[in-house]
Amino acid sequence: MGAHARCSPSALHRVLNCTPSLVLSEQFDDEESMYAAEGSAGHALAEHLIKKHLKLRTKRPTSEYYTDDLVEAVNEYVTFVTGEIEAAKAECKTPVFAVEQKVDISEYVDDCWGTADMTIITEKVAQIIDLKLGRGVEVSAEDNDQLKAYGLGVLTMADMLYDIEIVRLTIFQPRIGNYSTWDISSADLRKWGEEVLKPRGAMALIGAGDFHAGSWCRFCKARFQCRARAEEFLKMAQMEFAQPALLSDDEIAEVLAKADELSKWAADIYAYAQDQAITRGKEWPGYKLVEGRSNRKYTSEEDVEAAAKAAGYTDIYKQSLIGITDMERLMGKKQFADILGKYVYKPAGKITLVPDSDRRKAITRDTAEADFTEVKDNE
Ligand code: SF4
Repeated sequence: MGAHARCSPSALHRVLNCTPSLVLSEQFDDEESMYAAEGSAGHALAEHLIKKHLKLRTKRPTSEYYTDDLVEAVNEYVTFVTGEIEAAKAECKTPVFAVEQKVDISEYVDDCWGTADMTIITEKVAQIIDLKLGRGVEVSAEDNDQLKAYGLGVLTMADMLYDIEIVRLTIFQPRIGNYSTWDISSADLRKWGEEVLKPRGAMALIGAGDFHAGSWCRFCKARFQCRARAEEFLKMAQMEFAQPALLSDDEIAEVLAKADELSKWAADIYAYAQDQAITRGKEWPGYKLVEGRSNRKYTSEEDVEAAAKAAGYTDIYKQSLIGITDMERLMGKKQFADILGKYVYKPAGKITLVPDSDRRKAITRDTAEADFTEVKDNE
């Protein structure tokens, strides 16, 4: 196995939905983000703590990313995993535990392998637990292509030991309180491997199949320049309306549904074009780089302090509390809740129109109207 899998399980959801995206995205450099680096640091710490619990040789890693917030999230995950380890020990005489285990899925797709964060194997159940440290997108374990691929790799490994009946896939995403677990029978998982993963993976490796844009594009390295994605969005914008001068309610609802996606795509393209212009000197027809607006600043706070005092001004300082997030980071979640919990409240949020799919509970029309009037009165 090389340093990177050509077909990584973490990219499978995209690759299976848009098979030519694998070859297309190979011409782009890897994108480095501080979130990925922070995630790796968090995983290394989790690995160390779980190995310690299992009494395996390990050395505590160090990293500039170890903030109270990250350590707390990792600790929550480790508490969950060690609970599962103890439960497995109680129910099975010879459970198998593997931390950060390389899993090989090349029986289904060439050069497809990855690392499962935690694997627990008992006589009938193989559980794969995945730590997600991101806050941006809530990830579900249900029918999750990445975890299903890990599951197939684990089944291949465990075959000689046990007759696994159930593969349990678990996502633990502590920073947004998301815990999701899903069971699939090993027979159904193998069927998916043969009928979906194998043929679509083979197509992906040679760039075959049709481009298919969707939510998975957000993680594709070709997303800014992809023609299929652009066409999909432009199709969205070409709405055909019936003749009357005023749009109907249904037509406005249709615009709303598309506007959100379109504005995100437009913002993405804008950010990409600007980055290329600034970092690579790329010139876009009809566009130029200018200096943004800026605010005045002191050249030196010490000099300003001395000059203002010398001129007789003393009322020149202000002291303010640090914000809730910084305070929570400073104290840690538990201490924060113990010491300041009763002094923190959450005011009602600004009323917003969102699609039905949004997880927040709908408010009644009376409440919405009253709150809206109150806001207007206070403006
Ligand atoms: S951006 Fe979307 S449609 Fe285009 S190649 Fe990537 S996944 Fe496929």
